[in-house]
Amino acid sequence: MRPVVAVHGGAGRLSMRLKEREGRLKRELRSAVEEGLRALASGNALDAVVEAVSYMEECGEFNAGRGSVLNLAGEVEMDAAVMWGPDLSFGAVAAVRRFWNTVRLARAVMEETDHILLVGWGAEKLAEALGLEEMEGPLPRRVEEYRRLRSKFLRGEWSYWSRNLKLASLYAGEGDTVGAVALDKDGNLAASASTGGIWLKLPGRVGDTPLPGAGVYAENGLGAASATGRGEVIARSLLCKVACDLLGGGLTAQRAAEEAIRRVTERFGENTAGLILVSARGDVGFAFNTQVMLRALGSPGGEVRVAIYREEGLA
Ligand code: ASP
Repeated sequence: MRPVVAVHGGAGRLSMRLKEREGRLKRELRSAVEEGLRALASGNALDAVVEAVSYMEECGEFNAGRGSVLNLAGEVEMDAAVMWGPDLSFGAVAAVRRFWNTVRLARAVMEETDHILLVGWGAEKLAEALGLEEMEGPLPRRVEEYRRLRSKFLRGEWSYWSRNLKLASLYAGEGDTVGAVALDKDGNLAASASTGGIWLKLPGRVGDTPLPGAGVYAENGLGAASATGRGEVIARSLLCKVACDLLGGGLTAQRAAEEAIRRVTERFGENTAGLILVSARGDVGFAFNTQVMLRALGSPGGEVRVAIYREEGLA
């Protein structure tokens, strides 16, 4: 068994903009793993997944926290979750507008309340009580992107709306949602995820991220998983739970991740989902049916490896 931290920065399309941002994104993914490893050294797997994702929420490069995308009304609404493998404890928040550090807020729901999920106003009241930092509003580049996308949407040139999800493509170029999984030296597993959701979502829409078994799952002795992609697809597929159950059937993490994604693709089509998975032994799997998935992995004392494109191997 080897302790490990793995992160993802979303699954999506290969775009020119992604090419331009590649160097910066890889640096941020590396830093996120390093944050996770630092937390792992002084704490446990839960600390690691919270710190790695907090880093990505704060840096503004990803669709989470400060860098969140905007809904149809031009507002940010964020979802986040954590799950702790020893006792299946779970905490999540949804539709949070005012506070960027939503993964820390999700941890507080898990540790400080008797509930598993707080939304909107109630979640923000808890954030106030915790003294979390307020957002300064959406980033200027997100506002610009919003204006461009909204006018395309109004002209009927772009939409994610579709009753048949097989036809619905995963927009947003790079995806950008973030997540982490970790295994610590005591064999404890944890998972986290955080997102601004999908561009131009209806206000109040909640995706897979804050739902146990869908956007995250962690169970000691089995595995921990964090997903990204079309929330409506991932939630109905219970993607993270399915991937962990496949580990229980004896597959390696890579084979289990691939099989879980294969099942999603079979039912819902390509361009719908990506997954990171760590087993109780510490082997890691990455799988996605999109063109790219931003991902990175590291172990204490080892080098951090980062990848974006399909042909870049990691685990
Ligand atoms: N899964 C997220 C959601 O649907 C979005 C993403 O992963 O990019 O809210």
